[in-house]
Amino acid sequence: ATPTALMVGTGRGAQLGILIKGPEVLESTRRVDTVLLDKTGTVTTGRMTLQGVYAADGVDEGTLLRLAGAVEHASEHPVARAVAAGAEERAGRLPAVEDFANVPGKGVRGRVEGHDVAVGRLAENTAALPPELARAAEKAEREGRTAVVVGWDGWARGVLAVADTVKESSAEAVRSLRALGLTPILLTGDNRRVAEAVAHSVGIDRVIAEVLPEDKVEAVRRLRREGRSVAVVGDGVNDAAALATADLGLAMGTGTDAAIEASDLTLVRGDLRVAADAIRLSRRTLAVIK
Ligand code: ADP
Ligand code: MG
Repeated sequence: ATPTALMVGTGRGAQLGILIKGPEVLESTRRVDTVLLDKTGTVTTGRMTLQGVYAADGVDEGTLLRLAGAVEHASEHPVARAVAAGAEERAGRLPAVEDFANVPGKGVRGRVEGHDVAVGRLAENTAALPPELARAAEKAEREGRTAVVVGWDGWARGVLAVADTVKESSAEAVRSLRALGLTPILLTGDNRRVAEAVAHSVGIDRVIAEVLPEDKVEAVRRLRREGRSVAVVGDGVNDAAALATADLGLAMGTGTDAAIEASDLTLVRGDLRVAADAIRLSRRTLAVIK
């Protein structure tokens, strides 16, 4: 491979909205046969909204929203933003939070108005989920919504349903990746039912769900041990380690700096269809060189 020909390839990449870390990236791009797609912010817009509120028997809905919203207000996570904005809209000004803690891939906790509040998939909330809340959560998840459990002082008190939207271009992107002979797999920390609903709507039939950020790395390693050449497409801080471990890491340009820094290639406009363009371009560029 001559450096000049490779640079022509990367120049064309820039026109398409692809930023390549270096010419050597083209070689690994060409070999990729499996693409792990992060769900939130990659296949979906990541702009979530609060769609439903289920308070347990005897729990005031306004209190549920204010306590959950107050803790989530301190987090940048797309789920947290949806809960905080929705709570403020429905229940008014949010109280202050103390001793805030973020548990990556699970949720948040903090002290609000004298209560120890936990929001998300934190174990102590979900372990003893009363049947009425378990049913509410299951219904939300079957509809492709993320169920957020809210508890305080040791008891689960309610479930919030948060919805994301699948990007219009995602189904076409998946078709293009398949046309190039690649196997698409959806990778997410979210619930399996939600993941399967989203996967189905864009034409993906393999799902790796309910994985913690560090387990996304293990998912990549496992596929590589099976002899696959693995690309990861992601946008979040929670995808950074997987992007760095993959044979090829592709970051959404609309995503976090951590994801972009960890990747080999950036899709500037955050358009998943450009991932297929990138792979097509690198195959063609190297074919010309050889
Ligand atoms: P993804 O892999 O889809 O980008 P994450 O790994 O960040 O998702 O989180 C996994 C799951 O943990 C989320 O789908 C959500 O159910 C829960 N979660 C994470 N952070 C929060 C939060 N701040 N509030 C509520 N739930 C959360
Ligand atoms: Mg994401």
